[in-house]
Amino acid sequence: MRKEDKQVFEGAVATIRDEGRYRVFADIMRERGRFPHATIRRDDGTTADIVVWCSNDYLGQGQSPEVIDAAHAALDKVGAGAGGTRNISGTTSYHVDLEQELASLHGKEGALLFTSGYVSNDATLSTLAKLFPNLWIFSDAQNHASMIEGIKRAKCECRVFRHNDIQHLEALMNEAPADAPKLIAFESVYSMDGDTAPIEAICDLAEAYGAMTYLDEVHGVGLYGPTGGGVAERDGVMHRVDFIEGTLAKAFGTMGGYVTGPAAAIDAIRSTASGFIFTTSLAPSVAAAALESVRIVRECPHLRDRLQDRAERLKALLRDAGLPVMSESTTHIVPVLVGDAARCKKISDILLEEHGIYVQPINYPTVPRGTERLRITPSPFHDDELMDRLVASLKAVWAMCPVHLTA
Ligand code: PLP
Repeated sequence: MRKEDKQVFEGAVATIRDEGRYRVFADIMRERGRFPHATIRRDDGTTADIVVWCSNDYLGQGQSPEVIDAAHAALDKVGAGAGGTRNISGTTSYHVDLEQELASLHGKEGALLFTSGYVSNDATLSTLAKLFPNLWIFSDAQNHASMIEGIKRAKCECRVFRHNDIQHLEALMNEAPADAPKLIAFESVYSMDGDTAPIEAICDLAEAYGAMTYLDEVHGVGLYGPTGGGVAERDGVMHRVDFIEGTLAKAFGTMGGYVTGPAAAIDAIRSTASGFIFTTSLAPSVAAAALESVRIVRECPHLRDRLQDRAERLKALLRDAGLPVMSESTTHIVPVLVGDAARCKKISDILLEEHGIYVQPINYPTVPRGTERLRITPSPFHDDELMDRLVASLKAVWAMCPVHLTA
């Protein structure tokens, strides 16, 4: 590599360091049966016990004995890998049954598995534009990077509406020719602020303008609605949304993504999406674990109730302690505003090193500059004692880190 090329890489990292948002990944070993307790390995090789407060394994399903047993059974039966793409040798009864379960969860005719939620958004949105050459996509301003990438690759007409702003969405929809195919892409739970979309109002508008709807339920699936179908199920509008996309990596505790929708649409995506066709399918053991997890979560409303109870309690405790819980959150996500990248990282580092509490800093580009935060995600397994410890520690560290800390 030429010296000047190397300098480009070094310069990019230096800029990130200067802004105090250089990412250092914590080397964390989750321990079966001890969630949310885990072990961290430091650079010097020493280890320490920690409590994880920022996992997206929202229900602790990654540690569920039944889910682990299902993975073991599949591993013992069919081995480690899928053996290829779905077309080559990557379709097993685990994949097929899981797709049926997911379609049923969302009340749709069909479902298609992808290797992650990111891939499902990117592949599906870019493919829809191939299927509809004159497609107009209307995208919420706070949509996840995976949707934005998919839409960019779609190279179709796109309008970004102000976050959750129905009037703005309608004004933008009026810019499109009446007969153009249209798609509104949005999320149910916005994962950094913890607010939700006005799904019903968006469906009303979609109906009035003949637009399709594409809803990312990544942070809602498993957690909302009587059977965990997501916020759309909770709001009684699941049947009105054309495409519901989700992940197996958060409430279901495993990995993989999917999209559900009308049978013809799922078949068309299956037949044309590059991000589906040309990649090895999920390992059968992962599909088996996910299937078991979805089945459990559908039948366990008490897990959902307990999660909400934990989140409400934590928000109240933090507020009582004078800590700035972001008021936008009406969900299980508990964001605490810090507002400065370096301070955010510092608070997170001290919590980890001195208090054995792991909450990673959320900095730009995940959130806009000036809105850096700690994003706390309690689970059904974070008990009162752990919460009291978190709040006391955070209060102490908050006071130690002045507001105008610089990198
Ligand atoms: N959609 C949203 C809204 C997300 O927040 C994420 C990841 O956090 C994804 C999609 C991607 O899901 P996955 O982690 O399964 O790739």
